[in-house]
Amino acid sequence: MQQMSVTAGKDKPADSNRKIMIGLEVHGYLNMAESRAKLFCNCAINATAEPNTTICPVCTGQPGSKPMLPNREAIDKIVAIAAMLDCRINERLIFQRKHYSWPDMPTGYQRTMSGSYSVPVGQEGSFLGIGIEEVHLEEDPARWDPETGQVDYNRSGYPLVEIVTKPDFASSEEVRVWLRRLTATLSYIKAVNPDLGIKSDVNVSVAPDFGRVEIKNVNSFRSIVRAIEYETARQQREVKEGKKVSMETRAWRDGEGISVFMRQKETAVDYMFIPDPDLPAVKVTASEIKKIAEKLPEKPAAKIEKYVKQWKIDHVDAEVLSSEILLAGLFEKVAVVVNPILAARWLRRELLRVLNYNKKELEEVKLDERHMIQLLKLVESRRITDETAKGILEKLVEKQFDVGEYVRKNNLFAVAATDILEKYCEEAIAENPQAVADFKNGKEKALNFIIGSVMKKSRGKATPQQVTEILKRLIK
Ligand SMILES: [Zn+2]
Repeated sequence: MQQMSVTAGKDKPADSNRKIMIGLEVHGYLNMAESRAKLFCNCAINATAEPNTTICPVCTGQPGSKPMLPNREAIDKIVAIAAMLDCRINERLIFQRKHYSWPDMPTGYQRTMSGSYSVPVGQEGSFLGIGIEEVHLEEDPARWDPETGQVDYNRSGYPLVEIVTKPDFASSEEVRVWLRRLTATLSYIKAVNPDLGIKSDVNVSVAPDFGRVEIKNVNSFRSIVRAIEYETARQQREVKEGKKVSMETRAWRDGEGISVFMRQKETAVDYMFIPDPDLPAVKVTASEIKKIAEKLPEKPAAKIEKYVKQWKIDHVDAEVLSSEILLAGLFEKVAVVVNPILAARWLRRELLRVLNYNKKELEEVKLDERHMIQLLKLVESRRITDETAKGILEKLVEKQFDVGEYVRKNNLFAVAATDILEKYCEEAIAENPQAVADFKNGKEKALNFIIGSVMKKSRGKATPQQVTEILKRLIK
């Protein structure tokens, strides 16, 4: 054992992986639920509007137009995001002009809180063991179609959050899991517009002394994972062939599953950052930060830990239950009254199954915890069977009603009396001679058929375990 601990980390193949350094720049559209307006003008945020219908002189960069003061909702949202990611939040924020010439940017610069002299909203954060370099706010450019040359300015001026991580990831799998949890966490505060999705730039370097390669604009979790895997393998091949991996920017071609050279990596100098003279510094006072931080919900990671450690819930179940704040809230209310493991199983499996089947979200069905508790208490005390409970749950998702009363009225209590069950079993045996013979000849599965017949007779009010026991006793 001694030897193992000495050599561990030295000879393990994982050691070569440790040199792989992956960092992300995740961009998401802020969810502007209240103002529904862009960052520097009052134009509407509407993802489905006809091209160039939600525009004005500001967001189309007309000469002489000046930006309005930044939308306060965007500032508050971004502070909340930075706080959720445990960042130090700066109180005086500066917008800069990031210069570049491209058809999507009529002013010739993007307004952003990143860059050489910037003060980002949040810094030095950490999320699930990955360092957060900074969280900042910027405006989205217009959408330029290189095929037709047409520009749609609807999106121009949408507020974007950019979350820049440290190069702390060592594999695509780590990135995948982390991104999923990041999305769940941001959904708790409804910070990012889920309909518009996220996109990410990915930085990959396979060895400390090799150049960092940036892959631009990767548009889905799946593509991010594929791009990292492709780029890691490509760089490792270059290294093996004795080439030097250069610092460059590459584009991801999703259809082909490859990255292609775009340009040598630009530096901050290339963008000629200057503070935007049209925009005053944005002040966020300590008391405002405190107010926003106080309103933040408990994070999914904390919930997972609580579910697993205190309530002994399976880790996968804990992750699913915490992935949505409403589901987590319902679970926590139910789990203090009924056995948490039972509650987890029913919410994670049965409730989600019924919701999926009906293509509904939890928030649409308004299922309240009182009825869920009534139902699960009956299951816990075995006064109704799982089958009966599933049927009731399917109805509860459509309409709320008093579960106890419903069970009484419809006489759905589990059949506990053995003599009634025995009578059903005897009938089923008499009616299915072939299945009985098959079972006697060693075909275990034949019993299921007879069990099914008994369950039908009991209208689902018997438990399969009970029926199995009686049948086996009677047949032998
Ligand atoms: Zn506008």
